Amino acid sequence: MRILVLGGGPAGLYFSLLMKKLEPTHDVVVLERNAPSDTFGWGVVFSAKTMSSLRETDPETYAAISAASETWDNVDVVHRGEKISIRGNDFGGVARIDVIQLLQRRCHELGVELRFRTNVTEWSGLAALGGPPDLLVGADGLNSLVRQAHAADFGPTLDAGRNRYIWLGTPRLFHGLTLIFKQTPAGVLAAHAYKFSKTRSTFIVECPEETWAAGPLAGWSEAETPARLAEVFREELGGEPLLSNASRWIRFTLVKNRRWTTGNVVLLGDAAHTAHFSIGSGTKLAMEDAIALARSFAAHREVGPALAAFEAERKPKVDAYQEVAYGSLLWFERVKDLLHLDPIPFAYRLMTRSGKVDHENLRRRDPAFIEAYERQLRRTP
Ligand SMILES: Cc1cc2nc3c(=O)[nH]c(=O)nc-3n(C[C@H](O)[C@H](O)[C@H](O)COP(=O)(O)OP(=O)(O)OC[C@H]3O[C@@H](n4cnc5c(N)ncnc54)[C@H](O)[C@@H]3O)c2cc1C
Repeated sequence: MRILVLGGGPAGLYFSLLMKKLEPTHDVVVLERNAPSDTFGWGVVFSAKTMSSLRETDPETYAAISAASETWDNVDVVHRGEKISIRGNDFGGVARIDVIQLLQRRCHELGVELRFRTNVTEWSGLAALGGPPDLLVGADGLNSLVRQAHAADFGPTLDAGRNRYIWLGTPRLFHGLTLIFKQTPAGVLAAHAYKFSKTRSTFIVECPEETWAAGPLAGWSEAETPARLAEVFREELGGEPLLSNASRWIRFTLVKNRRWTTGNVVLLGDAAHTAHFSIGSGTKLAMEDAIALARSFAAHREVGPALAAFEAERKPKVDAYQEVAYGSLLWFERVKDLLHLDPIPFAYRLMTRSGKVDHENLRRRDPAFIEAYERQLRRTP
């Protein structure tokens, strides 16, 4: 089978190597506009559950990601300057560039052809590349060309969140997912921080559009923004700097599609769906899509039945996940209504925000935290 994949991000690379592993005679070509070492952003997060599904699927990829990861089991919530730690949450952080490059290496090992610096700007150009493929995969991210070219069939909707955010890095090491809520004269800023290597942490800052527009934030140039924000978070950063990687204030885009497949074309990863970064799962979802589609090909072989089975099995799961992530997005958009809460009940509301984690589940994760929360409830009339 001749497989053409547009986009060499986590979804496109992982799917390509899994298909080559499934059937070495497949001809798999990935077209990627960037160079092999280009990346945006800093680190990404994987849960222990995602890691175990990577281990079952391709032990080599799992071992490489695992070796590059920093792991933790605590979520730290910093509110009014007080840090509340909640244990029992198994996650790991890893540099996005490491994930991309180890997937590229694995693709090379298995014989996937990677064509870098190939920017496809026209649909007709893609279709003409070496004749029409048997399978065309749109793993081309948020602004997918493949999705646009088949918009009538896929039925996409794109909605921008109300908050602004900026994805920065820092040499300050935050052990565990650290959520910092900082009151400023302009309004509240939330930072999502976690280490993803021995020397770096991700540091995402988000705030309501009004706070961004009314305060000094919108007036700072792109070049001065990291240093200015580092001043705002000086205490939490211990005086360490914030670092830019072409970082800009943007708004989260929620991507959904009525369908993910049409004819011999399929969307994977961010091209098909996005999930708010506060549940840290865009890369996980992209790689799980790749696993599900490759499994579908293992079971069905023919393109038509494989795509139909993939969509039927995978889309309802992702739809449900997107609901949870949307609940989390709304929580962060409305957080100013909860700032009157003391640190423990505030942390409790944060942990239970999406409905996925409830009281008893939290008790299993961290009995001491739940005891402290219940003690506080008894004290508060
Ligand atoms: C602030 C922020 C924080 C995040 N944090 C996390 C996190 O903690 N954990 C997590 O799992 N995820 C996180 N994500 C999400 C994650 O980065 C994405 O969900 C993930 O990269 C999706 O993978 P993908 O392969 O579908 O798309 P992408 O990674 O976007 O890859 C698409 C690729 O296609 C290429 N491409 C696109 N169009 C063309 C074209 N026309 N021609 C050639 N090439 C093209 C692009 O260059 C790119 O390499 C975060 C995202 C943001 C914005």
